[in-house]
Amino acid sequence: MEPGPAHVARLGPVPRGGAGLIEVLERSDLRGRGGASFPVGTKWRTVAGRRAGSAVLLVNGAEGEPLSYKDRLLMQCRPHLVIDGAFLAATSVGADDIVLFVGEEHRPARASLERALAERVDHPCRVRFVTAPARYVAGEESAAVHCVNDGVALPTSIPPRPFEKGVGGRPTLVQNVETLAHVALVARFGDRWYQEGGRDGAGGTALLSISGAVRQGSVLEVAQGSTIGEAVEAVGGATAAVGAVLLGGYFGGWVRAGETWSLPVDGMRLRAHGRALGCGTVALLPAHRCGVAMTALIASYLADQSARQCGPCVFGLRAIADALSRVAVCTPDAHDLTRLRTWSSELRGRGACRHPDGAAGLVLSALDVFDTEFLSHAVQRRCSSPGTPLEAAQWTS
Ligand code: SF4
Repeated sequence: MEPGPAHVARLGPVPRGGAGLIEVLERSDLRGRGGASFPVGTKWRTVAGRRAGSAVLLVNGAEGEPLSYKDRLLMQCRPHLVIDGAFLAATSVGADDIVLFVGEEHRPARASLERALAERVDHPCRVRFVTAPARYVAGEESAAVHCVNDGVALPTSIPPRPFEKGVGGRPTLVQNVETLAHVALVARFGDRWYQEGGRDGAGGTALLSISGAVRQGSVLEVAQGSTIGEAVEAVGGATAAVGAVLLGGYFGGWVRAGETWSLPVDGMRLRAHGRALGCGTVALLPAHRCGVAMTALIASYLADQSARQCGPCVFGLRAIADALSRVAVCTPDAHDLTRLRTWSSELRGRGACRHPDGAAGLVLSALDVFDTEFLSHAVQRRCSSPGTPLEAAQWTS
């Protein structure tokens, strides 16, 4: 980790938070990096404006997405940057309680944060850790609040949203750790500096977790607005012919490789084209790996990760995962292919949280991108990627 003195020598002292910083954040158009891309300034103003008494800041470092490593790396290597952002957020929205919600498997990250906190003499309020269990949905905003309140990292039906009634029933700002690191830089260097850090109308930089058919899985900081292809080249390029790319993690979607490289690292522009950058994951599937098998593995994982509270999520996801598994091993029931599209379309919006929506979007994107392979599996009962049985499907070549 970068020690406090080196951090201050590199970036200068952290300025004061407050209403002025919220205005700077609004002008910068900095957006959250946990996946939702919500404007940070708007979120802070809402919490600051709605508070009855003091608010709570929940620093979200759960990072349960299996393809994402950027948050734990950031906490481990640059803990003071995250803490700067957290202290600025707390003073700006009037929080007197900071909860560092860190994934239970991210031990080096937590150790770095603990050491960095011990170096600080500028704590604005109480700071405490709460451990996020290793579940996919633990980092979902309402699940994080539920975990802090009751020790149960399951989503709750909303409204009320955390900014209305969160930790201890108090207005709560939930903010991803990468977002807070950007805040710490925008506070120092300003909104224009942030805007000039991006390309083609996008501001600032973003952390990407790049994995799959690359020499080594990497976390890379790139200018927003640069292309996915440039990012992959920056980590050494693909190590095999790439068939498709999973963009945005398990809640994202498959994109044909040829369509991927020119896409911008810009969550808002991607969303306008029906894509998602999510929490910034880019996973390259080699052309010789079976996309149907890989999707079946992910769908099964997501079905297992259901918080088992909502019927459509519990039974619908499992039914989809089972049908996908039958197709993947070329032993489908007669109507599995039709059912997959129907069930996935019907699942959207049926849960208390976005878990089923994310899973359904992934499956629908697979049915589109791997359409030929699905037909081959379901009709000809043959995998066009022989040698890659379900259990052997991996990201790497
Ligand atoms: S939709 Fe699924 S993951 Fe979300 S709360 Fe309901 S059961 Fe849990």
